[in-house]
Amino acid sequence: MSVDTLVVGGTVVTAGGSSQADVAITGERILEVGTGLEGPAARTIDATGLLVLPGVIDVHTHLRLPTDEEPDRCLRDTVAAARGGTTTVLSFNNPGTGISEAGAGSLLAGLEEFRRRTAGQAAVDIGLSAVVSGHQARALEELPALIAAGVPTFKAFMVYDFRLPDERLEAALRIAARNGGMLQVHCEEPSIIDPLVAAALRNGETDCRHHMLTRPPDAEAAATRKAIEMARRAEAPLYIVHLSCEAALEAVAEAKERGQPVYAETCPHYLTLTDALYDAGDEAEVIKRVISPPLRSQTDVDALWAGLREGFLDVIASDHVPDRVTVEKQVPAPPFPEISNGGPGIETMLAVAWSEGVARGRLGAERLVDVLATTPARLFGLSDKGAVEVGRDADLVLWDPAARRTLRQADLHHTSDYTPFEGLEISGAPVRVLLRGRDCGAPEQAPRGRFVERTLRPLPA
Ligand code: MN
Ligand code: MN
Repeated sequence: MSVDTLVVGGTVVTAGGSSQADVAITGERILEVGTGLEGPAARTIDATGLLVLPGVIDVHTHLRLPTDEEPDRCLRDTVAAARGGTTTVLSFNNPGTGISEAGAGSLLAGLEEFRRRTAGQAAVDIGLSAVVSGHQARALEELPALIAAGVPTFKAFMVYDFRLPDERLEAALRIAARNGGMLQVHCEEPSIIDPLVAAALRNGETDCRHHMLTRPPDAEAAATRKAIEMARRAEAPLYIVHLSCEAALEAVAEAKERGQPVYAETCPHYLTLTDALYDAGDEAEVIKRVISPPLRSQTDVDALWAGLREGFLDVIASDHVPDRVTVEKQVPAPPFPEISNGGPGIETMLAVAWSEGVARGRLGAERLVDVLATTPARLFGLSDKGAVEVGRDADLVLWDPAARRTLRQADLHHTSDYTPFEGLEISGAPVRVLLRGRDCGAPEQAPRGRFVERTLRPLPA
């Protein structure tokens, strides 16, 4: 078979180990990985001194669908993903992120709308994880058809007004599991949070800082334990999104040690930033930290790194919400319960995780590749992706571990107007990113991203 691209002289990093190896690409796939590979090849890329990583898979994003006012927002955020080394993005279509009334009412209509409106609007491969909200009357009945249509993962919330009440959440876990699907659950306990919020508002404590004070680690841990218990009864796998604190991690660790199929994700901001940032006096700064769960203590940060090392945390994902301080978040800020929850991170994930994790000796490069690509591919039904391995898609990041830079909003491509990591000194940078064998991430390039229909490999249940 003819070789289109030969990547020579680099160090290939896989979850199982690193070694000096060349990579031969034919068409969109990896043909061969080995030493001393020779052409003829249509082009040769010199990767001497660079690491060859699999393209990152970001399984937790909230892309905005194109609108008349902002027709290129999805495209620009996926260009940003590519620039940062992410070649596959799974996005939610939850209420409030651009999905129409029709989409919010029916999961299948939501899928149709997502595919139609993102077609030709993605610079990287893209898939949908549907939100199952308490506002959708027929959601549970639609799950099997949605799974069959290539959307086997769903996010359900235990908090917010669109939460799935416990009884329906447990039913959703059961239905998903019986039909080859998996629920991703946002674990925060409303019976703890709601009274704290009500009391704060009664006392006139409406500033941004009270967002954090009314969403304590206990609320996350209690909901995490409840979700784990529901999944156990339902004999279903469970994926916990954006785990932020040691108390919730302990619940996951106990479940895993019992052998229960519970998986958990954390995010770059929970691994690097702390709740000390809520003490900044400037509201325009603090409002950037209005995310759920909120930032936690340094003890929690340290526990999350340990959790990644020890295998109690499985995935790092960005939870990218392209909110802008000047638009969605609004300064001067309304009372904290009315502030949009979320922050950007689609472009900075690999950089932050590499620099804070690998460069600082808290995580091996192989484990980072595992939690950013290989395990996400395995858990989310992306069997063509996630590893530099023969037969898989040639989604590659050529990574320069010796590069030094400072993260600045001014250098980013995402559609937010800030980065939570402004000023962070970073070790490492992507030099070149390939999507299915071809360079990606140039803003002027025609978008090549495809919608990925996914099928989960059976997970133990
Ligand atoms: Mn969430
Ligand atoms: Mn989210």
